[in-house]
Amino acid sequence: MPRCSVPVPANPMPETASQHTPMMQQYLRIKAEHPQRLLFYRMGDFYELFYDDARRAARLLDITLTARGKSAGEPIPMAGVPFHAAEGYLAKLVRLGESVAICEQIGDLATSKGPVERQVVRIVTPGTVSDEALMDERRDNLLAALTVQDGRYGLAWLDLTGGRFLLQQLDNHDALLAELERLEPAEILIAEGQPFVRPGRDGGLTRRPPWHFEHDGAERQLTRQFGTRDLTGFGCTDLPLAVGAAGALLQYVADTQRSALPHITRLVVEQHDDAIVIDAATRRNLELTDAVSGRRQHSLAGLLDSAATAMGSRMLRRWLGRPLRDQHAVRARQALVACLLDQGRLDGLRDTLASVGDIERILARVALRSARPRDLAVLRDSLAVLPALRTLLASIDHPGMTELATDLGEHGDTHDLLTRAVIDNPPVVLRDGGVIAAGYDAELDDLRDLSQNADRFLVDLEQRERTRTGIDTLKVSYNRVHGYYIEIGRSKADRVPVDYIRRQTLKGAERYITPELKGFEDRVLSARERALQREKALYEALLDRLMTPLAALQQGADAVSRLDVLACFAERALRLELCRPAFRDAPGLKIRGGRHPVVEQVNDTPFVANDLVMDTHRHILIITGPNMGGKSTFMRQAALIVVMAYAGCFVPAESAELGPFDRIFSRIGASDDLAGGRSTFMVEMQETANILHNASDRSLVLMDEIGRGTSTFDGLSLAWACAVELATCTRAFTLFATHYFELTTLPDEYPGIANVHLDAVEHGDGIVFLHALRDGPANQSYGLQVAALAGVPHKVIELARRRLRELEQAAQRHAEDGADQLSLFQQAPSGQRHDRLRERLAQIDPDALSPRQALDALYELIRLRDAE
Ligand code: ADP
Repeated sequence: MPRCSVPVPANPMPETASQHTPMMQQYLRIKAEHPQRLLFYRMGDFYELFYDDARRAARLLDITLTARGKSAGEPIPMAGVPFHAAEGYLAKLVRLGESVAICEQIGDLATSKGPVERQVVRIVTPGTVSDEALMDERRDNLLAALTVQDGRYGLAWLDLTGGRFLLQQLDNHDALLAELERLEPAEILIAEGQPFVRPGRDGGLTRRPPWHFEHDGAERQLTRQFGTRDLTGFGCTDLPLAVGAAGALLQYVADTQRSALPHITRLVVEQHDDAIVIDAATRRNLELTDAVSGRRQHSLAGLLDSAATAMGSRMLRRWLGRPLRDQHAVRARQALVACLLDQGRLDGLRDTLASVGDIERILARVALRSARPRDLAVLRDSLAVLPALRTLLASIDHPGMTELATDLGEHGDTHDLLTRAVIDNPPVVLRDGGVIAAGYDAELDDLRDLSQNADRFLVDLEQRERTRTGIDTLKVSYNRVHGYYIEIGRSKADRVPVDYIRRQTLKGAERYITPELKGFEDRVLSARERALQREKALYEALLDRLMTPLAALQQGADAVSRLDVLACFAERALRLELCRPAFRDAPGLKIRGGRHPVVEQVNDTPFVANDLVMDTHRHILIITGPNMGGKSTFMRQAALIVVMAYAGCFVPAESAELGPFDRIFSRIGASDDLAGGRSTFMVEMQETANILHNASDRSLVLMDEIGRGTSTFDGLSLAWACAVELATCTRAFTLFATHYFELTTLPDEYPGIANVHLDAVEHGDGIVFLHALRDGPANQSYGLQVAALAGVPHKVIELARRRLRELEQAAQRHAEDGADQLSLFQQAPSGQRHDRLRERLAQIDPDALSPRQALDALYELIRLRDAE
């Protein structure tokens, strides 16, 4: 019998609100303003979640789902987290792409009639977090917004804690996906009702009203932020879709931050063509920022990131994610790396950099007015390091270093201000004061004196009262509930003077207050209260004063980041034995002794370096060799060398010369995109189509075993046709790994194609991979040996071997038939034959060919005949 499901209350409808308890009415009213967010509703020491929120939070946070009483006749599903542990739970939710509205009790519990007044005081969303505790310090945390019209896209993104606001327009969905893969936004804003598919990723989308994305409103929003008349100065007048996205984004940040954004002062148009374009699949295949294995060290960024500061790590990822096309700009980076290597000051520089805190994010928190006392202390200590950095840079005679030193700036005044204002080791939060240093403000000092002299006064008072009463165990003390009091043991109670007023009776003692002590208490407590108020006001004023140098400080932070990445590149060049690549105008590349930077580090065995030379006369390499021979590694290392070089980094090779590149494509072992409903073969063909449509004679294309996902003849024919297209039309620099030996005859027919193979030798029944690249095709595929190596049972290998022999004999017979067919073809009446075919026929001498070659010749002739 089917089980009947018990209905569980979903979020109650507003019309039933009046049937709820007053507290639930308040809850539902506030919740209605935040339908998409989890509402953390403060009740005493807990944040509670109700109804659907409770169910969702219980699942996501693995906390218990309970019920709280009844409201409107139904139990209320509830889950809660202790308020002191909330940050940890928030961090988890944000990582899962959830947004949270935090609702505090702001009214006075004692005087409230009905539920205490509550208000949402903070909204935390994945793309707008700025708290240190909720962010990955070594990765950018981006908020993106997206508009779509007629298959074109406007994309804007903001690094709220870096103050970077960029936008771009894209012509198609693939280009958009590539950018999203590069940027990895934590949250994407998109209009309600707008269809949007991002294969394999479904989290992090936030829906906003469509009118937020409309151009005119967006433009108003942006010009208000930047204080400009229009957007001409930002060069985005002809990018209406992107402007719409940027406006919607700014509106969202305003709604969630509820604070001005003085650190966001400009909008930058990112030109798609300034960078080497890398599509989404290729980014993943090359493991640029994340390794498939999930191990940090196994991605290129993980390997290269030895940055001394978190800011440097983030900039490094930006540089690697977006290799530049402009050789001039890249040479400038390289020159500085070389300079740092030559000067032998690298260690000193990196040590100094390591004491610079994350001033970029601190400055954002200053601007958002959420900076904590420790932030200001870190800022102060970081600014103290800048003079040493400037001196170091000044000692290196290079205009680029001078420029960096200028961008770092002086910031002596700001440093002085912070030194005077903030104590050495301030507490984490301002709540209890004790942040502003003595001597900074006379009024605060007076108030503090008053409350601190209290100790002296109390000691004196205690002494006087002991003498007056003759009770030498009399004590003057303080507690939070009762304030100041005089405590006397019960046995001495008869000696208490008449002016003592009883405050509290304990088991063995009585507590009293006197008019003198009461007067003192009022003065002290009000002085404390006033000191705290004063301190808070001074703190706010300090944040205000930091607004003036904010832009210059941001520039300084940017200079520190750049310097850190350059120093990191230099350090990696030394440690990983990288060489400085040269850039050439002529297309192609010439790599001597190239290595795969990650495989070489991860493997225990020595890495075999290989050369790779490609130019316009030799721009497709058909790569054969056994599985596990090193084909994929070789192809990927070529792409990684290009990425590293154009990011400004040195490369794993003995020498490298690189021509210009516009894009890198790869078609490498896809897995089924089950979520997107596409089979392996479909994914493979879509990626192939993308390459054939978009690659140019300046692109680097990696093709790994295409055609594998379908029947042999289909696959072979497709692989063949793609290679021909790339050779004759696209003319891209292509590394084409294949297990179809038939493709190794391509070089005979088409110029620009050459065969290479990865060497292996048979050893007994097994195989030894040499991983060395050699000219010419591989002579066999070693499939059975590799299978044996992989542990396929001996008897299966034996059966396969027999079957292989039969197949080879059949192929031989087929080929011999082919030779006969060729003779017949040649002897056939030549009436309708065209010149090219006749000419080719005359060149072929069937007696000089092996049966296999004769068969190939026959195919060629048939193709020629059919071509006309
Ligand atoms: P294929 O694509 O031909 O199947 P791979 O490129 O996946 O082969 O390489 C198989 C393994 O061989 C790699 O995991 C790596 O450990 C090792 N390898 C590849 N190239 C080299 C090399 N040049 N030197 C040393 N080991 C290598």
